[in-house]
Amino acid sequence: MSEISTDQTRCQGYGNCAAAAPEVFDLDDTGLVEVLNANPEGPELARAREAATMCPVQAITVG
Ligand code: SF4
Repeated sequence: MSEISTDQTRCQGYGNCAAAAPEVFDLDDTGLVEVLNANPEGPELARAREAATMCPVQAITVG
């Protein structure tokens, strides 16, 4: 099972991740990434991996 983790100290709040995988990522009240589902599967996992590649500051890790 893949585990999603994010680094809020790197996140700049661009929102690419939430746009690419809205069931996995959102932005919190401070405008930084929050993980809605740390263990996505199937198509959601694929979108989470895509989101990780789209983050301009490499704040997303798919373990
Ligand atoms: S794409 Fe990266 S910088 Fe943008 S909100 Fe997501 S984690 Fe933060």
